[in-house]
Amino acid sequence: MKYPNTRQEAIKQGLRYYFTGRPCAKGHVALRKFGGEKHKSTCVECFKLRSRLKRQADQVKGHRSRSQQWRADNPEMAKLKGLVRRKKNPIRYKLAIIKHRAKVIGVEFNLRPEDVIIPDTCPVLGIPLRFSNRPRDPNSPSIDRIDNRKGYTQDNVVIVSNRVNALKGDASVEELIKIATFYSKQVKPAGWTAPDLSDLVR
Ligand SMILES: [Zn+2]
Repeated sequence: MKYPNTRQEAIKQGLRYYFTGRPCAKGHVALRKFGGEKHKSTCVECFKLRSRLKRQADQVKGHRSRSQQWRADNPEMAKLKGLVRRKKNPIRYKLAIIKHRAKVIGVEFNLRPEDVIIPDTCPVLGIPLRFSNRPRDPNSPSIDRIDNRKGYTQDNVVIVSNRVNALKGDASVEELIKIATFYSKQVKPAGWTAPDLSDLVR
């Protein structure tokens, strides 16, 4: 998007950003934003910096962030807002949850919404994939790590159904093959022979 060079032009176009190309007092060459005609303009980089410092200061003091405080004060509304956001952009919502989890368990996370392409069907079971509000819906897509010791990175995740993720748990490929081999030997429909998977086990 091309932003106008002056604030006046931005106001004329109904925009809240403009770009002068000149550095701010702190030397950022960045967009300027303003809340409305009567508001002061701020360099967006300076704004980010100030917000971060404020957040950090709050954290040090043990204060809740403004959004945390708001959520604590308005639990019903917060829940509703969460649902709306989730419905509007389920992938973004999912990634936010995963990002948090990655931080908690201390693994890398670098997935962007555009990295996550949800197939129509689960690549393992062939069942349709669709987002739903029901927790643990077997047909909901699930972002699964291939190697559980590694993080949520483009080369270490696959999209499968919740059903597959639940069945797999934290089993290794070797364990999965052993389970499949064991049960395929117990259940013998007429005219069916259990596939020999033993070669697959290292
Ligand atoms: Zn600045």
